[in-house]
Amino acid sequence: MPELPEVETVVRGLRLLLPGRTILDVRLGKVDFVDDPASLAESLPGKRIVDVARLGKFICVALEPGKDLSGAAGVSESRLNFIVHLGMTGQLTVKSAGDPVKSHTHCFFGLDDGQEIRYRDIRRFGRMLVVPESGMREFLGHLGREPLEIGAEEFCKEFSSRRARVKALLLDQRVLRGVGNIYADESLFRARLHPARIAASLTKKQMLALHRAVREILEAAIHFRGSSISDYVDAKGMRGKFQQQHRVYQRKGKACFRCRGKIRRVIVAGRSSYFCPRCQPAPRARKK
Ligand SMILES: [Zn+2]
Repeated sequence: MPELPEVETVVRGLRLLLPGRTILDVRLGKVDFVDDPASLAESLPGKRIVDVARLGKFICVALEPGKDLSGAAGVSESRLNFIVHLGMTGQLTVKSAGDPVKSHTHCFFGLDDGQEIRYRDIRRFGRMLVVPESGMREFLGHLGREPLEIGAEEFCKEFSSRRARVKALLLDQRVLRGVGNIYADESLFRARLHPARIAASLTKKQMLALHRAVREILEAAIHFRGSSISDYVDAKGMRGKFQQQHRVYQRKGKACFRCRGKIRRVIVAGRSSYFCPRCQPAPRARKK
């Protein structure tokens, strides 16, 4: 499932390709992941792409009115945001209109330079919607803090009062936006914290270590252009390389790179969690 580094890699790729382009037409296939397909198909043609940004795990393509293709006059339009969440298996790529189309490609957005944005999603757990600039505050209101921007003190404040397990908090998009299972596990390993620790039980030093670990892991993963576990590809359809750097994620039974102990897998907060029992001691063992 694409997490922050994968989405950031896609966004950086799109940012090189899209700003300045105008969307000419929209063709939709299966649309059960689109909030309002009719409005999407109606509102995008004629719009000029001005920027591409990441909001947690959402890709946000900022559009301004541009040339009016419909001929409708006098309609005052402000900036729109075309927002895409890749879900489990979503891929947002830019291809030449003549390039072969892969199966499970559901949406095509034709551009004025002969290329098109394609959305492919095998499992269709993604999401696509259009949000006017005036609705962005409400949209962002559901999302937590940006993990690459939150300061150490604020991070400690978010975590120190919570009775939830630290793994569950890392995954909670209302606390931090963009961290998922891979980077939660890798961050906890780096910070030497067991995933089932209660956040409020962490010492200040441990919380600061976790804050630093989250940031370092995410930055390293962006550097390696994300982790391609299953379907993730960047804006040009290329796979990431950070999966080769994973220390615990999906390494059950393999040797810990730090202590040579065996990596284990447990369920914490309903999610599988990979950790090293020696490097990340369990909460109960610590109390002895
Ligand atoms: Zn270890």
